[in-house]
Amino acid sequence: MLGFHEELDIIKVSRKGSSNSGRDTILPKAETFMGIYPPSFENLINQFIRLPGIGQKSATRLALYILRSNKEHVENLADSLIEVKEKIKFCSICFNFTDNDPCPICLNENRANGIICVVETPGDQLAIEESGIFKGRYHILHGVLSPLDGIGPADLKIGELISRIDKEGIREIIIATNPTTEGETTASFLFKLLSEKESSLQITRIALGVPMGGDLKYMDRMTLEHSLKSRVPIHL
Ligand SMILES: [Zn+2]
Repeated sequence: MLGFHEELDIIKVSRKGSSNSGRDTILPKAETFMGIYPPSFENLINQFIRLPGIGQKSATRLALYILRSNKEHVENLADSLIEVKEKIKFCSICFNFTDNDPCPICLNENRANGIICVVETPGDQLAIEESGIFKGRYHILHGVLSPLDGIGPADLKIGELISRIDKEGIREIIIATNPTTEGETTASFLFKLLSEKESSLQITRIALGVPMGGDLKYMDRMTLEHSLKSRVPIHL
């Protein structure tokens, strides 16, 4: 996999010749701020630039915000950053982030046993959990298969998912990877692996199609194709 600075080089090259009309530009620190600001302020900006989705302008805005904030607020922020690194770990069952292992969801006796929803990241799990619809268990893969990036089955929590089937008496697995090329590849791989492992296991995939409030005129071909293939009978 590429390192952070290698990724920056690619972004720089890909943007050469573009007009870059006012959008944040991600640049390595040496070229961006050398000598313009006091060194400690430059250092703070450069730490913010390393965060995902933060460009030069956003990093400068955040650094100015910190500079103007009172000391107590800044100390609380710094303490939170250290605390999250020291306390948060993976749940040894579902591999979600947690303060305590196993996590509260895995320990919750009121949730349905025998059904696992498989997602790519803790963020995906949180989105489903916030909907309040799913009451079973989760398993976080921590990524998707991506041969071009060198990510294979051994890099994901797939072996750990397989071992849960017998241990927890799993009857259904919902594959809720995202509808991207890598997400679909991962779903197909899991389906084949799981169905070979346990033929009685019910393996389902989240429906992909037209979103609520969507308009068919503006849907892309892939979405329409999935919508038609995933059509369901109407129940009144
Ligand atoms: Zn857990």
